[in-house]
Amino acid sequence: MKTSIATVTLSGELPEKLEAIARARFDGVEIFENDFLAFDGSPADVGKMARDLGLQITLFQPFRDFEGMPEALRIRTFDRAERKFDIMQELGTDMVLVCSSVSPAALGGIDRAAADFHELGVRAARRGLKVGYEALAWGRYVNDHRDAWEIVRRANHPNVGLILDSFHSLSRKIDINSIRSIPKEKIFIVQLADAPLIDMDLLYWSRHFRNMPGEGDLPVTAFTEAVASTGYDGYFSLEIFNDQFRGGSTRAIAADGHRSLVYLADQVRRNVETPIGVAMPERADVKGIGFIEFATDEDEAIELIALLHALGFRKAAVHRSKKVTLFEQGSIRILVNVDTAGFANAAYAVHGTSAYALALVVDDADKAYERALALDAEPFRQAVADGELEFPAIRGVGGGVIYLIDDKSPLGRFSEIDFEPISEEDAAVDAGLLRIDHVAQTVAYDEMLTWLLFYTSIFDARKTPMVDIIDPSGVVRSQVIENESGALRITMNGAENRRTLAGHFIAEKFGSGIQHLAFSTNDIFATAETLRAQGFKPLHISPNYYDDVEARFGLDPDLTERLKGENILYDRDEHGEYFQLYSGTYGEGFFFEIVERRGYRGYGAPNAIFRIAALKKQMRPEGIPKDASWHPS
Ligand code: MG
Ligand code: MG
Repeated sequence: MKTSIATVTLSGELPEKLEAIARARFDGVEIFENDFLAFDGSPADVGKMARDLGLQITLFQPFRDFEGMPEALRIRTFDRAERKFDIMQELGTDMVLVCSSVSPAALGGIDRAAADFHELGVRAARRGLKVGYEALAWGRYVNDHRDAWEIVRRANHPNVGLILDSFHSLSRKIDINSIRSIPKEKIFIVQLADAPLIDMDLLYWSRHFRNMPGEGDLPVTAFTEAVASTGYDGYFSLEIFNDQFRGGSTRAIAADGHRSLVYLADQVRRNVETPIGVAMPERADVKGIGFIEFATDEDEAIELIALLHALGFRKAAVHRSKKVTLFEQGSIRILVNVDTAGFANAAYAVHGTSAYALALVVDDADKAYERALALDAEPFRQAVADGELEFPAIRGVGGGVIYLIDDKSPLGRFSEIDFEPISEEDAAVDAGLLRIDHVAQTVAYDEMLTWLLFYTSIFDARKTPMVDIIDPSGVVRSQVIENESGALRITMNGAENRRTLAGHFIAEKFGSGIQHLAFSTNDIFATAETLRAQGFKPLHISPNYYDDVEARFGLDPDLTERLKGENILYDRDEHGEYFQLYSGTYGEGFFFEIVERRGYRGYGAPNAIFRIAALKKQMRPEGIPKDASWHPS
């Protein structure tokens, strides 16, 4: 796939945008007129800058309100076009994007428009230039690519062609199969954008909420399959208007854009015979979480290990060459790394005690790794001692590590080879914790789409709709990434302000990361009792919560009493019941959760507000007025 992106997609000054686009490995760039007008250099300077970075200028845009003007305005419109042609020649691009007119002065009439385009084609051809026509979804007379194509067809000039834009066609639910009968040489370029499904004015939706293919809800893959079926193998260019992207990291957004196109091409080539895209292994099926590794130091490890003990984790083995201890319960493995060298130590130095690494068990680790790298994931490597196992690994949220392991690197061998079993009796009593139910990651709000695309493009997983969680100090956006079997369940919380618990976590942890781990049990009440006996202190939940939950769900008062007695939260969906028990926070907001699912498929979102309030009460020093920022800094 030949990839391109419009400068309007990114934040920053033009040189910064071009640098980020080249760095993200795009082949081309669309120059937006405003970016060029705000830049001090000449069109030739911009052209040289792009070429020096190895970027082709795929087009110059936009040229508005061209077709169908009455005679008096028509002459001026053609003069404007000639001036755009001058700039294009200096820039070194051969194509201009003409979007369908929204001018109240325009007269309409398909043959009048076709005649205008024929003349524009004649003038462009004199200079070796091309004209591409795009139907805006809110165009005055032309707002459908089928009408734009009919005008291009009647214009009947080799230098006039059609520009398709997935947003304009999909937002109006135009039949995508109508693209299949357009001759490929008349499709001059294809612009791609996705968007979340929102019922609003098309223009406003388009200008503020577009996002990268795969990040939204529009059928961009089906659109691209229809384009690919024509044999088209020209540029696919991202044209995204998004308020968040305009304020985001230029490089990160460019990188997301490239990943989205590589992923899109991969999906398309699995369904359509097409030269676009590169062969890569399928999305990796996650079968479980192999282990979670905490980075900490000797002092802070004492509190963490005490908490693990209270949760019923048994010290099972110690690493042969590093200061790493393996704790186990059920199929859960937790590593506590207090090594004073290596990446874990560096992660500890930056983030404090944190769950910086997780291992995902996949069918074939090498294939998953190959796919991750094809999708621009950053590889992670560090030195291992002679004979020790080395797992393929990539960088994840907050610079953390995701190890990829499979049956060829069984965890049994992993512990035998790298770890020495501990023979002494461990006092911890098994609390019935069986497996990791979900991993909750907290990220800055503007990173959410990045990680969503990261997980869903590399792993066979889907995203659930975003929900808002009301924190007493602001809104936290929450979205789930999960697979069919439930072996992979990641809840991602995006925090906009630092007074929310999630925002505080990011501010104090110097970045995104795992904020809680949820373990599953088959008997939450038995687990709670065992934990209590071992000195585990659950998060205290307000008694008012239980009155409400009893009324809301019509619970048996005996059950409500038991829930209240153990500080267990309750929820229900159409599939079943959910029970949640939380630890207090450790460090700057990390905590553990224990859940029992009786068929329930969600994550207890309605309870989040009560959990957050309880955690904050625990963290807030006494005597601070309610309206003050609750955190100590
Ligand atoms: Mg467009
Ligand atoms: Mg949870």
